Amino acid sequence: MKGKIALEEHFAIDETLLDSRGFFPDDVWAEVKDRVMDLHGRRIRLMDEHGIETMILSLNAPTVQAIPDPKRANEIAIKANDYLAEQIAKRPDRFQGFAALPLQDPDLATRELQRCVKDLGFVGALVNGFSQVNDPNNIVYYDMPQFWDFWGVLESLDVPFYLHPRNPLPIHSKIYEGHSWLMGPSWAFGQETAVHALRLMGSGLFDKYPKIQIVLGHMGEGLPFSMWRVDNCNAWIPNRHNYPAKRKIGEYFQDNFHITTSGNFRTQALINTMLEIGSDRIMFSTDWPFENIDHAAIWFDAATISEDDRLKIGRTNAKKLFKLK
Ligand code: MN
Repeated sequence: MKGKIALEEHFAIDETLLDSRGFFPDDVWAEVKDRVMDLHGRRIRLMDEHGIETMILSLNAPTVQAIPDPKRANEIAIKANDYLAEQIAKRPDRFQGFAALPLQDPDLATRELQRCVKDLGFVGALVNGFSQVNDPNNIVYYDMPQFWDFWGVLESLDVPFYLHPRNPLPIHSKIYEGHSWLMGPSWAFGQETAVHALRLMGSGLFDKYPKIQIVLGHMGEGLPFSMWRVDNCNAWIPNRHNYPAKRKIGEYFQDNFHITTSGNFRTQALINTMLEIGSDRIMFSTDWPFENIDHAAIWFDAATISEDDRLKIGRTNAKKLFKLK
């Protein structure tokens, strides 16, 4: 399919490059480094080759979220966002941008979001899970009360928020001890991000700000498969669930969430996701440079879905959500 739009596509700057180092074996690091630092060479060639017209670019992970000093986190976010804006200006026909945000400090994050959307023309934000604040072991999730004004501004700016994974901290990773292969994309990313998303749904955030739109990658981080059980476990017991939100969790999932195919190129999972959330809320993505563009595109272009759904998921849903021209 030609004209695809992909929106979980990462780059790095010098200051954030090494954040990607620990996820890869030594013998492929040179390759990862080439891929993540490149914007205008191989990336564009691969986009051309595999029918991707536009990439919405975002900084690598965990970067800004893993800088406990809020001032420093803000500096790196600004630097990355300015760099991204310059690169988009060179290829406005092929690139759009997501803001990196220093959520260590909700006010700084709000200011940077406003700057990125209003001055730099970015189409949303991409944030790498929880933020570490002051003490590296002190972490915040965004359902917490100090973030609600930030969410109000995001809603009024009418831009989506991409909740991207990061690994849990070592002090919260007892279950993975001795099983390091489960860290990162194989399991821990999805577990961490799915719980964060559920916290947002249960908090009542979407009752107060019903127009907020959250994007999850990796075919929904396991949530489409599990959403029914979240709402229907022990259904014979009256008032089994007590959380602040007013509606069923699955209703927020359907009204406030979008899902991308990044790094999860599996037709069975796609069809399950279509049945849970509908093809209007699913968008093609690759997770370049950490997954391959050819793996994503060759799978998607041939997946056994209708051409109508392929066009929506590959292009028109993203065009609408991000108001792309
Ligand atoms: Mn990613």
